[in-house]
Amino acid sequence: MSARIIEGTRIGREIRAEVAAEVERLRGEEGVVPGLAVILVGNDPASEVYVRSKTRACAEAGMNDRLLHLDADVSADELFGVIDGLNADPAVHGILVQLPLPPHIDPKSVLERVSPAKDVDGFHPLNVGRAFVGDPAGFLPATPAGVMELLRREGVPTHGRHAVVVGRSLIVSKPLASLLLAPGPNATVTLCHRHTADLASHTRLADILVVAVGKPGLITREMVKPGAVVLDVGTTRVPDPAHPRGYVIRGDVDFEAVREVASAISPVPGGVGPMTIAMLLRNTAEAARRAAARARRRAGSAA
Ligand code: NAP
Repeated sequence: MSARIIEGTRIGREIRAEVAAEVERLRGEEGVVPGLAVILVGNDPASEVYVRSKTRACAEAGMNDRLLHLDADVSADELFGVIDGLNADPAVHGILVQLPLPPHIDPKSVLERVSPAKDVDGFHPLNVGRAFVGDPAGFLPATPAGVMELLRREGVPTHGRHAVVVGRSLIVSKPLASLLLAPGPNATVTLCHRHTADLASHTRLADILVVAVGKPGLITREMVKPGAVVLDVGTTRVPDPAHPRGYVIRGDVDFEAVREVASAISPVPGGVGPMTIAMLLRNTAEAARRAAARARRRAGSAA
């Protein structure tokens, strides 16, 4: 068997086109242009690449983008001041603080400073809680929301299926587990991590296997049940002198071997990654739509 390839690039492009249409509607009907502000602290090369692709995608969807690039030695108070300014700016609907931050800044306090109404990354504790209880008033973090959207658009059944998620991070795996488990998707979920004994005995039971670790080649053919759907979230830069960039991006799954047993598999790059950006844009358009609705209600009650 050779697995169907789950084309995140194509599906992400479809979602971005839908977002662009919504941006056009917001501009025409509500007089609002969604705006995303991205805060980058320091000069981490991988972060610079991510930030550039996010701001470029914003512009392509017809949104306003604003990049605030701060020095690596910026103080926490200065950073809070920048966030407070963006929280108060009506032209900014989404705020994203690119992680990781320099070691002298506590990321938790920074993420808590972002207004929950503009937290399009879904990292504020209020939105984490809303995602956990299934409250749609929050914002879902982009990567797990992107994985769910891939499953939905690919017609992968989740109801009653066993989903195994490798990894237990707050930004990907834990929210993904609660989305899969929720009424609707109704999957049975197992979460694995570094201390899981005999990882393969769990992954081999998966109808849907999602891997978010950051260890290229962790998941081999023997660890996958024949016919499983495999989604690879991992992105690791692996040095490659033959490549013009000097590195290539690898996922956590041994793609060539696993595609022989899986029924469907997402590649890296071109799988989950493009979905993350698409879902971030969708959250930003949604934040603008909610802001416009709030403004309309305020105007209505003032009249
Ligand atoms: P993370 O915070 O880096 O944590 C990695 C997780 O993997 C941890 O829970 C860790 O377990 C677990 N782990 C490590 N070694 C393991 C092993 N040998 N067996 C089983 N589990 C193991 O995770 P993350 O932020 O979710 O990122 C994971 C990967 O996804 C990274 O490669 C990241 O670059 C990528 N990523 C991609 C996107 C995208 O848009 N495509 C978005 C976000 C992240 P412990 O908790 O026990 O340490």
